Amino acid sequence: MKKILKKRAIPGPESKKLLKKAARVEPPCSADQLPIVWDHAEGTRVWDVDGNEYLDLTSGVLVTNVGHCHPHMVSSVQEQITKLDNSYSFRTRKRIEAAERIVNATPENLTQVFMLTTGAEATETAMRLARLYSGKQEILSFYGAFHGKTYGAMSVSGSIGTKKGFGSGVPGTIFAPYPYCYRCFYDKKLPDCGMYCLKALDRIVEAETWDNLGSVIIEPYQGAAGFIFPPEGYLKAIEKWANDRDLVFIVDEVQSSFGRTGKLFMIEWEDVRPHLLALGKGMGSSLPASAVVGEEKLFTAVGTSGLSSTWGGNPLSSAAVIAVFEILEKERLLENCERVGSSLMASLNILKEKYEILGDVRGKGLVIGLEFVEGGNKPAPQLTNKVVRAAAERGLMLGKLGLYGNVIRVAPPLVITEEEANLCVEILDRAIGSILEG
Ligand code: PLP
Repeated sequence: MKKILKKRAIPGPESKKLLKKAARVEPPCSADQLPIVWDHAEGTRVWDVDGNEYLDLTSGVLVTNVGHCHPHMVSSVQEQITKLDNSYSFRTRKRIEAAERIVNATPENLTQVFMLTTGAEATETAMRLARLYSGKQEILSFYGAFHGKTYGAMSVSGSIGTKKGFGSGVPGTIFAPYPYCYRCFYDKKLPDCGMYCLKALDRIVEAETWDNLGSVIIEPYQGAAGFIFPPEGYLKAIEKWANDRDLVFIVDEVQSSFGRTGKLFMIEWEDVRPHLLALGKGMGSSLPASAVVGEEKLFTAVGTSGLSSTWGGNPLSSAAVIAVFEILEKERLLENCERVGSSLMASLNILKEKYEILGDVRGKGLVIGLEFVEGGNKPAPQLTNKVVRAAAERGLMLGKLGLYGNVIRVAPPLVITEEEANLCVEILDRAIGSILEG
């Protein structure tokens, strides 16, 4: 395994050649990743077109939860494509089975599921259902939220990076601070604050709505904002707050589901019961698949032709969803996620003690954010970029994100072993050390 510690130049000559070609035909709109062209992958490993091997801590973008190109996934999809590849809204055996598995795995109040293709499609659909059911236009979302880049999803996104330059969004969103305790909006500290951000909600709603608030949308942890985890009890308290005010409660688990935090869905940690649950990413692992799971009365509100999606629930994606359930179960990946996740968290906390620039380490299961800072807790995006690059040069593939671009995401496929996790920490340690040495 040690061979992947070998230093390599980034980009390699073949990556460089291909990136030059790409620059002629692909816009640089989402080119903030490392200049590496991926060739193939297996489990937790990725190889670039120059033959360099990397340990992958990105899982794409928290997608390949069951590991890259898992043999059972490959054979399930291969078998399906020889039989039936699209049916649009005609039911298929695979889609019905995928739907049954999802409904059976979610809280009892969620009895129906509508299959879609992307995360943004799932959050948009949840918002559409909430509007139709409640008859109300306004929705509460949170500072830092990210729910996708289509117009409705973008309108409930709480960061300027998503919305800048697009004029005005879909009317009706109001925003409240999310509990980003490392950088508390109210400058308070747990536990003395008594979750002040919750107490402030009614005042915000009273000032900002037009008495037309129908729903709340929330990520159980904020992904794009920098893997920000609310304090224990917060999500359950938000659920109660929404129920007490007769609001449709939407939880966006596009990123946090399918085992990422050590449970199939993050809402399970606190027995949270949304009225609508948006799913995506790890749901199909290798293939695009997303869904809205909800209470029957919410779907009834749209009637028989209110929702459609060309690729939603197509036979290949449905086969992939079933394969995800089977692999998670057979390989006990939720247990692996919890076990490797907690030892990884412990080792990363040791790095935090060692390096002042590592300001915060937070997460659950195999989704851990490393927030880099300088001069106290000032965000350090340039330093973060350097760490990402130095790690890649040593064989560790990382992504970064965050409201200030200073959070490294540690989110490997859930098949990662403890030995591999230790190696990741070793590489990260060397990468940070090399930067501080100059
Ligand atoms: N919701 C959450 C919480 C996400 O993290 C994302 C993507 O990162 C989305 C929605 C949008 O998903 P997609 O890019 O598949 O549209």
